[in-house]
Amino acid sequence: MSDYRGRIAPTPTGLLHVGHARTFAQAAERAKRAHGQLLFRIEDLDAQRCRDKLAQKSMEDCRWLGFAWSEGPDVGGPFGPYIQSQRLNYYLEVWKQLHATGLIYPCDKSRKDVERALVAPHVEDDQEPIFPIELRPDKNLGSNATEPGNQNWRFRIPISEEIKFIDQIQGAQSFTAGKDFGDFLIWRKDGFPSYELAVVADDHAMKITEVVRGADLLLSTARQILLYRAHNWTPPQWAHVPLVTDAQGQRLAKRTHGLSIQELREKGITAAAVLTAPLKALSI
Ligand code: GLU
Repeated sequence: MSDYRGRIAPTPTGLLHVGHARTFAQAAERAKRAHGQLLFRIEDLDAQRCRDKLAQKSMEDCRWLGFAWSEGPDVGGPFGPYIQSQRLNYYLEVWKQLHATGLIYPCDKSRKDVERALVAPHVEDDQEPIFPIELRPDKNLGSNATEPGNQNWRFRIPISEEIKFIDQIQGAQSFTAGKDFGDFLIWRKDGFPSYELAVVADDHAMKITEVVRGADLLLSTARQILLYRAHNWTPPQWAHVPLVTDAQGQRLAKRTHGLSIQELREKGITAAAVLTAPLKALSI
């Protein structure tokens, strides 16, 4: 057994599809090849859109696909709970540590304000718009806070710094703070941590040594590296898996009808085919 620790970390807002299956297969494969451990974590912080049933279903689908994990909501383990909605107290502690660095500030700007302040808003569907530097408040705002309260908090990025890392699959990567991403959300006014905070806090606490996930999160990795640095934590290795696309080059996430694991299973498609067959062969 090596000290490699990887994870499968779905967000239960919908049924898992072929794209998830293939990314998670890489996570499982890399853990296996390294003779390491694999854990399963449910990322259900978006209370509006996440469903317990879908979380259960995601574990069921992954077991059916043949992935084996030794820690998770269904089997327990030393770093639990493995369900993010049960880890809020821990995230609050992490917020406090970040607050003590002076690198975060409360922000009352809405998404609309941010978009209005941009000369040429270029916002990909699911990316947050780049926060304009002129909307940053005075350095001391929020410095006396003892808890996040009902407000958004953002991380003060080092403008113009290039954040570089070597991805184990995609090779050398470089993103420029302030150009590729702006001051990003740390805490949401609905009382939950942002994705970036929760994922870094958990990967650190669960001693993850390699993060394997979809290539759509490459840019998030740049933000997350800044959080590791702020905490003085050692970042894991990164391995971003190319996204599955359909014949039109569309990301699968946008068109999953007929390609959820459940539907394919019901059609009698095998786990091996879900993981390796050309998409065309699956969507008959
Ligand atoms: N839960 C995220 C998702 O399903 C993945 C997060 C990660 O692997 O860092 O998109």
